[in-house]
Amino acid sequence: MDIERVDIPGNTNVLSSRFGPGAVDGIAREIGRFVVTTMDVPWQQAAPRVGGSPEAVLIADSMEFDAVDRQVAAAPDGDTVLAVGGGRAIDLGKYLAWKKRCRLVSVPTVLSVDAFVTPSAGLRRNHQVEYVGSASPDPLIIDYDLLRTAPAELNIAGVGDLLSIHTATFDWELAEKAGRSEFPFSATDVAKARAVLEDVAASAAQISRCTDIGLRTIVEGYMRVNTICLPADHYRVEEGSEHYLFYELEERLRRPFIHGHIVGLGVFVMSHLQDNAAAEVTDTMRQLSLRFQPADMQLSRDALVSSMMALAGYVREREFWYTVIDERPITRAFVDSITDRLRY
Ligand SMILES: [Zn+2]
Repeated sequence: MDIERVDIPGNTNVLSSRFGPGAVDGIAREIGRFVVTTMDVPWQQAAPRVGGSPEAVLIADSMEFDAVDRQVAAAPDGDTVLAVGGGRAIDLGKYLAWKKRCRLVSVPTVLSVDAFVTPSAGLRRNHQVEYVGSASPDPLIIDYDLLRTAPAELNIAGVGDLLSIHTATFDWELAEKAGRSEFPFSATDVAKARAVLEDVAASAAQISRCTDIGLRTIVEGYMRVNTICLPADHYRVEEGSEHYLFYELEERLRRPFIHGHIVGLGVFVMSHLQDNAAAEVTDTMRQLSLRFQPADMQLSRDALVSSMMALAGYVREREFWYTVIDERPITRAFVDSITDRLRY
């Protein structure tokens, strides 16, 4: 079995890495006394592979500050925090490692969100997300076999925040042309981000089948986006109008979405509003088997229509970054023509 390091120049926020089938096997032998942060299902999958006996196993069942701080206060000391699971388990691990000033080893069991490469932990205060602390995995362990124990559609959803480069970079260029960019514009960063997206599109068939190469392409994509966004201190190349549609929907409907699915829908809608290679990016999403249809996320046509009609007012009220939503009117005719082309 081949375990390899993936080294990408620049600040990836990954201190070291091990990629490969079975990469997590026996990790307990190398990390001293360790505390695990996880959820029930991922820990069932991972525990026999990890080996050893943790000092404690913390379950990430609530991300509210009060609950998390109680868990951290009660946690035993150790040399290492071993974070195993999806976004919540990894965020709890980052927070614990930051608070205890100890080593973090991150083992994502699904690629649906990029928490395993970002520095801060997403906790919640009264259900609103706040990002706190800073932690970098050493190593980040990408075990392809372990990842494939998660539903394929959730690993594929990981491409959502890479596909968003398509619409987000366009938005940033629009903002720059309008003299409304909130940050110093960088054509180099835009080009670097688009190169990530091109590699995702070129590996679409591999990603769709969750092969080793496909899974690696997603993780490398996140690491490369970090090398652009961490020095710039903003995520303008991967967050724009496509995310704003999702924020409006989430606030309106007060329900969670699978991030990559709803962002995919945002890319579909906004690439049309931008008149920005909409057919091509939609074709890529189909090749990726990304579930971006309203039918995939129990989203009604009425809700989507209401959200699109309210969007321009919403982004202005929130003072979000300047995007196509500020520049081109979202007319009832546009909304009808877009919503006609989606499945419910
Ligand atoms: Zn996102």
